[in-house]
Amino acid sequence: MCTGMWQDYSINDEGRISTLRVEYNNKIHGNSVVSERCFIPGEVIYKFHNCRLINIPTYQTIQIGENEHLIDLDIMAYLNHSCMPNTFIDTKDLSIIAARSIMPGEDLTIFYPSTEWEMAKPFICQCKAPDCLGLIAGAKYLLPEILNRYHISLHISQMAYYDRVVLSGR
Ligand SMILES: [Zn+2]
Repeated sequence: MCTGMWQDYSINDEGRISTLRVEYNNKIHGNSVVSERCFIPGEVIYKFHNCRLINIPTYQTIQIGENEHLIDLDIMAYLNHSCMPNTFIDTKDLSIIAARSIMPGEDLTIFYPSTEWEMAKPFICQCKAPDCLGLIAGAKYLLPEILNRYHISLHISQMAYYDRVVLSGR
């Protein structure tokens, strides 16, 4: 059921139309990106385009390298976090991929620490996943065994390795 206002977006992704919409002020997440069709696991849902790179994180950026943060995310500025996400970001291809089957009407979610090392605006997660992590502040604050449950971007793997093995000297 829908509450709030809708806006339709049809994104041409290499000849295929991926249909998404932004739903404003829904009860679970506030604003969110909602799928209007089924996606199969591994399917490209969205390709980032017209983004810029900046070298510091804000609450409206996605990190794609140690000092590289995408801004001007268009509708993906509304992509919410979940501790049990249904998408992940391919930071090489700059696309959003279905992590599992997604049904029409589902909110699209990602695991923010899979791309974010240290977030500009940490928050207390209320995703209601059984293993919800609570405070979401970036990968820097999570144990390797937690990070390993997710599709972690290469820069996060490298930064975690550097932080825990090289810096600590252990
Ligand atoms: Zn959570």
